[in-house]
Amino acid sequence: MQVLLVGAGLSGAVIGRKLAEAGHSCRIIDSRDHVGGNCYTERDAETGVMMHVYGPHIFHTDDEEVWSYVNSFTEFLPFQNRVKATAQGGVYSLPINLLTINQFFNKTLRPDEAKAFIASQADAAIVGPQTFEEQALRFVGRDLYEAFFKGYTEKQWGCSPSELPASILKRLPVRFNYDDNYFFHRFQGMPRDGYTPMIEGILDHPSITVELSTPFTPDMTAEADHVFWSGPLDGFFGYAHGRLGYRTLDFERFTYQGDYQGCAVMNYGDRDVPYTRITEHKHFSPWETHEGSVCCREYSRAAEPGDIPYYPIRLVEEKALLGEYIAKAEATEGVTFVGRLGTYRYLDMDVTIREALDTADAFMNCLAKGKTM
Ligand code: UDP
Repeated sequence: MQVLLVGAGLSGAVIGRKLAEAGHSCRIIDSRDHVGGNCYTERDAETGVMMHVYGPHIFHTDDEEVWSYVNSFTEFLPFQNRVKATAQGGVYSLPINLLTINQFFNKTLRPDEAKAFIASQADAAIVGPQTFEEQALRFVGRDLYEAFFKGYTEKQWGCSPSELPASILKRLPVRFNYDDNYFFHRFQGMPRDGYTPMIEGILDHPSITVELSTPFTPDMTAEADHVFWSGPLDGFFGYAHGRLGYRTLDFERFTYQGDYQGCAVMNYGDRDVPYTRITEHKHFSPWETHEGSVCCREYSRAAEPGDIPYYPIRLVEEKALLGEYIAKAEATEGVTFVGRLGTYRYLDMDVTIREALDTADAFMNCLAKGKTM
């Protein structure tokens, strides 16, 4: 079977690989001049530092199969994300943990005491929190919410946390011990040479051809028995019903001799600091030594046509529009919509890979039964 995969990011690469291994012929196109989508990494020409070109990507998963899958294509080294936050004139540890609580409130609480203290701060009247703000007020109380979440989230999402779903905040834990590992997954690491060689490794199969700088044109479908689309869902339909909202990011690069901030990611909670965070990329490769350093201030704004889409917004307005596009997608035979852009969801890398592996399996099961997807 001749398969066309639009997008050489994680979804396209993983699905393509699985189908190629099963004997199908895969043509993968990407409008960009590189593979890897937003996971793309490259060395900075000036300093030699490995850059996460589209912002920080830290691999973490509980899925053993996904972990061994990525490790079979490239070497991962241990890496734990330990984020710091500058807010209200201090520097604190994130995610909120016992150190954050004790420093922020100038206390010396033990775990049980901190739990009781935070419970006394929290708004117990909120039952079944629906919004980001309700979730924060219910679980950490107003002071921590205003220092660490309110301003950051307004900058990141361009709206009030009272308009955002609680699910966004549920990505972050609150800990009553001194564990400052940002993620709680069993397997965590960073590819020694960045994500690009990993994705190149996945794509390296005789039945896969990759064409870069090649935008999709509708005539390409004529030559394919099936299409996997990992571009924007609304883009496939020419934005016929309007555009789904995305946040895009602008990165302001600057260099520094030495160590600029002492950690990979520093978040900025205050509303009057215009950026959300600063990433100092060399700290993502602590096994390398570089005198020079490259940092990026990260600014979030509403994506305009032509901007790179990063975060799907999924507010009420988008949800209604999304329903229309999903109905259209379901009615489109011979095309499967995959990945963050193709399904308009905020997906971590491990979930993207898991779904891609499962999608390829489902596709081959359909073929085996003589059905189409
Ligand atoms: N968030 C926040 N303050 C922080 C970090 C995160 O308010 O210092 C909120 C913000 O709304 C963000 C969400 O929590 O979008 C999820 O954070 P995560 O670190 O998972 O965001 P990502 O790294 O995926 O952008």
